[in-house]
Amino acid sequence: MTDRFIVLKFGGSSVSEARHWRTIERVVRDRMDSGFRPVLVLSALKNVTNLLEGLLHQARVGAHHHAVGHLRDMHYAFASELGLEGERLLTMWFSELESVLSEIEARRNITPKLHARVLATGELLSSTLGAAYMNKVGLSCRWMDIRRILKSEPASDPWHAYVSATCNFEVDGTLQQRLAEEKSLLVTQGFIASNEDGETVLLGREGSDTTAAYLAAMLNARKVEIWTDVPGIFSANPRDLPEARQLMRLGYEEAQRLTQSGAKVLHERALKPLASRNIPAEIRCTWLPDMPGTIVGSDDFMTAPFAVSQIAPVTWFRFSERELAPRRGILPALMGKGYDLVVDALRPAGGEMVLYWANSDAPEPGLSELLAAGQADDTGIEQHLACLGVVGPRDNHWHEILDAFVERSERALGGGVRQIMHLPGRWVLLVEQRLAHDWLRQLHTEVMRTSSAVSHGRTWQEIHEVRS
Ligand code: ADP
Ligand code: ASP
Ligand code: MG
Repeated sequence: MTDRFIVLKFGGSSVSEARHWRTIERVVRDRMDSGFRPVLVLSALKNVTNLLEGLLHQARVGAHHHAVGHLRDMHYAFASELGLEGERLLTMWFSELESVLSEIEARRNITPKLHARVLATGELLSSTLGAAYMNKVGLSCRWMDIRRILKSEPASDPWHAYVSATCNFEVDGTLQQRLAEEKSLLVTQGFIASNEDGETVLLGREGSDTTAAYLAAMLNARKVEIWTDVPGIFSANPRDLPEARQLMRLGYEEAQRLTQSGAKVLHERALKPLASRNIPAEIRCTWLPDMPGTIVGSDDFMTAPFAVSQIAPVTWFRFSERELAPRRGILPALMGKGYDLVVDALRPAGGEMVLYWANSDAPEPGLSELLAAGQADDTGIEQHLACLGVVGPRDNHWHEILDAFVERSERALGGGVRQIMHLPGRWVLLVEQRLAHDWLRQLHTEVMRTSSAVSHGRTWQEIHEVRS
């Protein structure tokens, strides 16, 4: 049976409504009837990780008690909607949370280690409720602490060690054997792991997708299903552009380029473990459980640009050659501080670089701190920009077509373009944030016009019309 594992990951909005738990149960039973051994990976209830992040700062000044009460009430109320006794099931996690928050209050300081322990609470709570629900509906189920399985790798600094860790995902024969012998359905947490001292660490915000991928790789699972609030990966964020079309199939590298460009439907770190064992992922919608989603697998087959994306706000830094010097410059200074700044394009020759901290994993450096870190007194900075990306095949001939399109459209769209960058398989436009939506829509129209050969499915709008 070791070759029949399937990992089912349910995101925050999927696990937050009682009616969705009937869908989750149905999906689990269906996969079991098809001969699979499902392992469930659950995220925290919607918005809970954000609330926990807020608690960290409140605890520093001793002002967290009211918010802990709110979090507790919210979970107890949800438990009772599921027909469960919240207080009996969850008290332990709340006591642990309160003791970590007291430690922060006493120290008046949030260390990455304490940060990880506080944020881990969300997944510990949701998975405890999930396992109890499955038992209640007659699916014999065992709650599994993922921290005993996922071990983090050494990191360069405490921030990456505790808050944005990566894990080893080699196939683990002992684990396969142990879980194969398990009679019960296994329910576990996304987002968390432990280090070699057994301390809790996090995999970075949105990291539950990565948990599912790690576990799938270690178990050499048949498939991963990512259940979320949209039926797949679209040609744009469907909440920005209702005309975005569902993408039926994508290769790992194509999906990787899209997630790196800001499509948060799947965490970019999830793709490497899946590609390493050739495990397909399917992105499905908990609201529309019978609708096929996007399959991500091994073949890259796009022959034209297929999707657009947006990251905002973005700050643009223009550095002098001196600042970009590999050893003295600003980059090592910033990375050494543990900021998850993304260096999207680095052109040492021109001294230009795009840095942004849209990634909420990272502590937000103020601009003055950034400058001080690199003594970048001759840095040019522009704020309130957006980074729009077009993702396509690796060859670059379509980049010129987009450059020409921008030149033609500038006047109609009110200008606002700061920079165009060509990266392998990605084309990036740096544009004023106030004009970003108009540019995104125009780029999407252009991409759809030129990509008729690509297998795009229905639009988000059409899917909604059929539903209502
Ligand atoms: P979960 O909580 O289930 O992990 P997320 O909010 O992290 O869900 O990811 C789903 C969201 O990703 C969607 O609601 C959608 O707004 C957003 N998204 C961004 N880009 C895309 C894209 N290209 N295709 C589909 N969804 C996208
Ligand atoms: N709950 C975590 C977050 O909100 C992890 C996840 O949902 O993927 O970042
Ligand atoms: Mg997510």
